[in-house]
Amino acid sequence: MTEPLRIDASSEGLTRERIDSRALEVTDALVAAGYEAYLVGGCVRDLLLGKDPKDFDVATSATPQQVQDVLPRTRLIGRRFQIVHARVGREIIEVSTFRKSPEDDDGGDTDLRRHDSNGVILRDNLFGTLEEDAFRRDLTINALYYDPTNEQIVDHVGGFDDLKNDRLRLIGVPKLRLTEDPVRLLRLLRFKAKLGFEIDPEIEDVIPEVQDLLQVAAPARLFDEISKLFMNGRAAATWNLLCDYDIVNVLFPCAPPDSALIAAAMANTDARVAEGKPVTPGFLFAVLLWPDFLARCHELAEPDKPLEFSSRAADETLRLQQHIIAVPRRFSQFVKETWLLQQRLIQPKSKGMGTLVGHPRFRAAYDFLLLRAETEEEHLKERADWWTRYQESDEDAQAQLRGQLGTKPRRRRRRRSKPAQ
Ligand code: ATP
Ligand code: MG
Repeated sequence: MTEPLRIDASSEGLTRERIDSRALEVTDALVAAGYEAYLVGGCVRDLLLGKDPKDFDVATSATPQQVQDVLPRTRLIGRRFQIVHARVGREIIEVSTFRKSPEDDDGGDTDLRRHDSNGVILRDNLFGTLEEDAFRRDLTINALYYDPTNEQIVDHVGGFDDLKNDRLRLIGVPKLRLTEDPVRLLRLLRFKAKLGFEIDPEIEDVIPEVQDLLQVAAPARLFDEISKLFMNGRAAATWNLLCDYDIVNVLFPCAPPDSALIAAAMANTDARVAEGKPVTPGFLFAVLLWPDFLARCHELAEPDKPLEFSSRAADETLRLQQHIIAVPRRFSQFVKETWLLQQRLIQPKSKGMGTLVGHPRFRAAYDFLLLRAETEEEHLKERADWWTRYQESDEDAQAQLRGQLGTKPRRRRRRRSKPAQ
């Protein structure tokens, strides 16, 4: 065992007062029961950077069972990676038991750890010491522990130095760490976009060799990680990184990296996050998969059954994307509805307006139309403006706007006259 670097936390501005009292309740209870307990990961990193942490995660020497014996209201979750969710007041604190890194055992598969044929870890429940736990984490800056009893930062991996020097470094051999869990590549880009740190050149070198492995990562995890990538207020920066590193191709084979619509949607999402407005991954998936949906609509086009063919096109686009990223049903439904409402918004009919405006996806579909009009399809601008006015108007003015629509003239079949010879 090597001695870790121990840093007086208060000299770095990290005092107990800055930590969520409920997280401290958890660590204090575990320490009182004779276990080690630390805060770890994103919260320590963010506190040292003077940012407000999103959540507070606890790492402990107690096994999940022992954690459940010490804390009153808990739930065991996860299979690949078992953790305990401890409820304190209305807050949930994640408590994970120290784990070993793969190099620390014989590498063979057991009930507690399993790899697939690509070397990807499928299960990771081999418990270990604090030091071992530090080495199994992804980035050095995410492997800093705060010891609330001695009020110290414990650093086994040089993370403190990297944090001070704005460096993103993986613990261990980059190629191995990215191979055993390709999702780490997305995490790396997320932190680069969030913190503006430099990626270690050794990692840069191996990215082209490992990026295709993202296709074999569990589709459900990819959805979670991609949602985090785009919902954290740095979507535009992240999207640029995904394009620069050619990862868009792997995740969204049908999304054009140079799309003005996508860039605008990312910027728009960031603006919404900054204003505290709600954002949903559904909207961004609708934008990312839109070109593929349109292409399929054209392919399937049957002019007399417009709704049926667009519905089939939507299902097909979503089905193929699911092989890579498992978009949960409520979001894929969101995507489909947003798409199918486009035509109804572009050619509104005065009848049935109430149902259209009251549709749960109306607002998303309107936002989507605005983005299309602002970026790639200027001819939609007039209609988009009409909708903006409609929503801002009182009932009388709305009736007038509806009057402008008129009733749709019946289509008369006209014989084409023969061109003059
Ligand atoms: P955020 O601010 O987004 O919560 P975070 O670093 O806390 O960032 P989490 O996903 O909450 O990210 O993960 C908590 C900690 O678990 C990380 O800081 C890291 O130490 C470890 N970790 C998470 N994912 C991985 C992974 N794929 N491989 C290794 N360690 C990981
Ligand atoms: Mg976290």
